[in-house]
Amino acid sequence: MMDELRELYQQVILDHQKAPRNFRKMENATAAVEGFNPLCGDHYTIYLLVEDNIVKDVSFEGTGCAISKASASMMTAALKGKTRAEAESLFEKFHDLVTGKLEVEQAAGELGKLAVFAGVRDFPVRVKCAILPWHSMHSALEGDKTVVSTE
Ligand code: ZN
Repeated sequence: MMDELRELYQQVILDHQKAPRNFRKMENATAAVEGFNPLCGDHYTIYLLVEDNIVKDVSFEGTGCAISKASASMMTAALKGKTRAEAESLFEKFHDLVTGKLEVEQAAGELGKLAVFAGVRDFPVRVKCAILPWHSMHSALEGDKTVVSTE
């Protein structure tokens, strides 16, 4: 299981890093949050278009390492069309997965391919990279901040 996951992890990260999904500025966003991870130098802006409690569109732009970029890319793909509550729930599950509070087997059903990020849990620096886009998205959903930092 872990060997398969590791292989899939590398494939997925490479794929999304080379061809990030929804990598663009959004002019009609209802919320935008800038996220920094000073430890690694990751710096992204996450854009959300939320209407009638549905995430109608989500995109990102910025620069950073392969893990943060792949995480942001996969997050945008996972969130489109979700309700606000579903997006919050995904955020919590992803957070628990990468911090080791949720087992991979449990997470796989609900998180799908995002479960490959369990691969970062033994590397605290990488956890911050993977979670940065999610923290930014969470703040954008809550509408309480325009800048977040992992520090
Ligand atoms: Zn990083």
